[in-house]
Amino acid sequence: MQSRIDTFKFDSASSIASQVSKGRVSAMEITEQHLARIKSLNSDLNAFITVSDNLARSQAEKIDKKFKNGETLGPLAGVPIAIKDNIVVRGVETTCASKILKGWTPPYNATVIDKLIEADAVIVGKSNMDEFAMGSSTEHSAFGPTKNPFDLDRVPGGSSGGSAAAVAANLVPIALGSDTGGSIRQPAAFCGVLGLKPTYGFVSRYGLVAFASSLDQIGPFAKTIEDMKLLMTVISGHDSNDSTSLNFETTPVLNPSKTDIKGLRVGIVKEFNEGLTSNIAVSLKNAIEKLQVAGAVIEEVSIPSVKFCLSAYYLIAPAEASSNLARFDGVRYGARENGDNVEQMMIATRTKGFGDEVKRRIMLGTYALSKGYYDAYYKSAQQVRTLVIREFSKVYSSVDILLSPTTPSTAFKIGEKLDDPMEMYLSDIMTIPTNLAGHPAINVPFGSDDSGLPIGLQIMAPALKDGKLLSIANFLLSQEGN
Ligand code: GLN
Repeated sequence: MQSRIDTFKFDSASSIASQVSKGRVSAMEITEQHLARIKSLNSDLNAFITVSDNLARSQAEKIDKKFKNGETLGPLAGVPIAIKDNIVVRGVETTCASKILKGWTPPYNATVIDKLIEADAVIVGKSNMDEFAMGSSTEHSAFGPTKNPFDLDRVPGGSSGGSAAAVAANLVPIALGSDTGGSIRQPAAFCGVLGLKPTYGFVSRYGLVAFASSLDQIGPFAKTIEDMKLLMTVISGHDSNDSTSLNFETTPVLNPSKTDIKGLRVGIVKEFNEGLTSNIAVSLKNAIEKLQVAGAVIEEVSIPSVKFCLSAYYLIAPAEASSNLARFDGVRYGARENGDNVEQMMIATRTKGFGDEVKRRIMLGTYALSKGYYDAYYKSAQQVRTLVIREFSKVYSSVDILLSPTTPSTAFKIGEKLDDPMEMYLSDIMTIPTNLAGHPAINVPFGSDDSGLPIGLQIMAPALKDGKLLSIANFLLSQEGN
């Protein structure tokens, strides 16, 4: 097994920012170091679709100039960051890993990008993903699969596989991904890094190319809790450009330093414990023991509706995708194929431009929304969603958080599940319920399997308890391997 996990000295985002702010190192030096590392490893990993070296250098130059002028630098001063290629950055090609967007350069920044620039971060590139974020392995990318840095024959998970692999292999200390049904947490689990799906509405979706708008959320990848907190603090908050953005009277606290495990009520979801591989079951058991020793109260809980979540998700997400993706028609964005008339041009563009998985979802979603089937499929799926929300809220009246594995298995081999969509969909069985409920959830690396592949545990909490997740993840990280 060939790996790209090496002895490169990892420097966290918070440490880089503090050094750059004090003038101990320039933003340009940090940028060049990371661009060189990307250059040497990206041909093996394929974590980036585009390396934005010009943009990165010009941002670094501006930051260094600011420092020389005596200005105070932002909280991410000189920190290199990778951006999933479905989040728009002005002037840098955004492809969503699809041929249909080839050549499309957005004229504006996503809100999260404006916030990152304001915080003096340095955008080094656009990371690989499953086409339009549909997938669990990054194999559905028109630009070829990303490789798992722990084993190049394995997938990094998906759909934000490029971001997860880039952080795992120290190409960047932090990255952004998007999570509709698990696309931050599942790749974070496969690559042994932290990945958070924030509460729905906590981070603006303006400038995130929509897959399933009622589920999509942008979130951070990092290796330390401090970096997760730093990045979340920068990207979160109300945005009038996103009608689903939450407007808080008081901003939720993201302070992970107060870890009070004593008396914490931890629920273990019974339904998630079936069919786990023995390595994963052992990791979960170890984590439960550590929590117990620290004074947490463990309780087994049941959320019966989780068994319907996968089916409900694969109706709701494709239904929303089928209407969101109608805009890619050869007129407004990117590629265009020739045709005898407008309709033929659109058909040819969409037939050639979209990959198989995207077409599968569009067909499924259009079918689920069509007259005569709407009540049977889409409406029932929405009813399941309501049921899930109710059951979660009932469970959260007796426990503070829920703990489960993030995935039923560790990273699988490239090609292993490609011909069996149902098998691929099952990768997200434990992550999808929180998307349906709109709650936050985090992946925490905790142990590894017999082949040395990372295992991830998922902590879930009620809406806006994102800070609590960080603090409990902090505790678990401190216990890993003890
Ligand atoms: N793997 C799931 C899917 O294919 C989730 C994707 C995501 O979260 N973007 O839809």
